[in-house]
Amino acid sequence: MQIETDVCIVGGGVMGAATAHAISRMSENRILLLDRYGVGNEYCSSNDVNRVFRFAYGGDQFYTEMAIESLRLWKELEKETSHELLIPTGLLMLEGDDEHANRFNESSFRILTKLDVGAHVYDGTELRKRFPQFQAGSAFFDPHGGVLLASESLETFTSEAGSHGVKILEKRVTRFRDKSGLEIETAEGQTIRAKKLVVTAGPWTNSLLKDGLTGITPTRQQLIYLKPSRDLEKFRPSSCPVFFTDHHYGLPAAGIDGVKISNKELIDPVDPETARRSVDQEQIEQCREACRKFVPDLAEGDVVQTKVCLYDMTENSDFVIDRDPYHRDIVYGYGFSGHGFKFAPLIGKLLAQLVLDREPSFDLSRFSAQKSQRKPQLTSAQLGKGE
Ligand SMILES: Cc1cc2nc3c(=O)[nH]c(=O)nc-3n(C[C@H](O)[C@H](O)[C@H](O)COP(=O)(O)OP(=O)(O)OC[C@H]3O[C@@H](n4cnc5c(N)ncnc54)[C@H](O)[C@@H]3O)c2cc1C
Repeated sequence: MQIETDVCIVGGGVMGAATAHAISRMSENRILLLDRYGVGNEYCSSNDVNRVFRFAYGGDQFYTEMAIESLRLWKELEKETSHELLIPTGLLMLEGDDEHANRFNESSFRILTKLDVGAHVYDGTELRKRFPQFQAGSAFFDPHGGVLLASESLETFTSEAGSHGVKILEKRVTRFRDKSGLEIETAEGQTIRAKKLVVTAGPWTNSLLKDGLTGITPTRQQLIYLKPSRDLEKFRPSSCPVFFTDHHYGLPAAGIDGVKISNKELIDPVDPETARRSVDQEQIEQCREACRKFVPDLAEGDVVQTKVCLYDMTENSDFVIDRDPYHRDIVYGYGFSGHGFKFAPLIGKLLAQLVLDREPSFDLSRFSAQKSQRKPQLTSAQLGKGE
């Protein structure tokens, strides 16, 4: 059986869904969104309770500027759908022993101050007064940090796209080729003919890439939700910010009765087809250890939920948002390297602009699909600056 469409999007995580939503608002094209496990499946990287939003990006002003624009688009989506998706909490960057983390916090403060978007410094006494849940010698505060309700955002993009006529199917794409127009084949034996193709396949992207394009390394990440031993209300978003410590990050109890804690530097390469989807006891212990130092009331809390998700890491953790260098009608959006969710409405819009042959509203040269055009590889100490 053959299906015909104008735009076919492969991968229904948040990036595919945001792209479908953006194209459907910007054009009258027929759009097909395919996902091998179905949109909102358990394996994709977008389907978790919550994700970090922040302006703070160390000295990397470009990402801060993208976050500023993305915040505008999240607010637009919230208004359009009457749904709260981004809960403002601020981001607290606690001073610790790790030089790299401390430098990141200081540079974030500098850039936020330079851009005049607001940032605070707390000494130890002020910190205890303002946020008694935490302990550290000092801390920087990004007032624009917040919690994104992740699965709810994915659901919102998908249902909005659906109501704008996007057709959504559960299908696995096995390959595509140019045969006077694009031909996309599925594992179910169907052929889809499309004028444009968008690949947003997250950690599975390598299997769909041609030689010469920059690839990704899928890495296994472990999330632990701890219920504080007392006074859960103190850890709700109304009183508790998102926080960064030396090697971990945390989100207040939003969408769940537990505070999410995870290691932000885990490098554990895996095959997405076979990755083990359960957490290691050792990671739970390390999260507790970090809490003993920075958030004592969480350290002995009950584990109320755990989850394994995969990052799709590029060598320098910059995204790929580009056209195929040899085929303008193929557009790629992948390699979101553990920090893409906060940009989803912006990335959806940028991919839509590429598909519709419009001028992208951000300079995309840094996000080239061609290896030769990309910034140098980062060391492992610099990588894993996820979230
Ligand atoms: C543990 C963890 C924590 C994170 N924390 C944050 C955070 O706090 N803040 C932040 O900004 N970002 C965060 N991120 C990153 C963010 O979640 C990801 O960048 C984002 O969800 C990636 O979305 P995606 O749509 O590219 O990929 P995915 O959500 O993985 O979607 C890809 C989809 O493609 C489908 N697919 C694959 N191959 C095929 C095929 N051949 N045919 C059809 N379908 C296919 C899959 O089934 C999947 O549903 C985190 C990521 C992880 C894993």
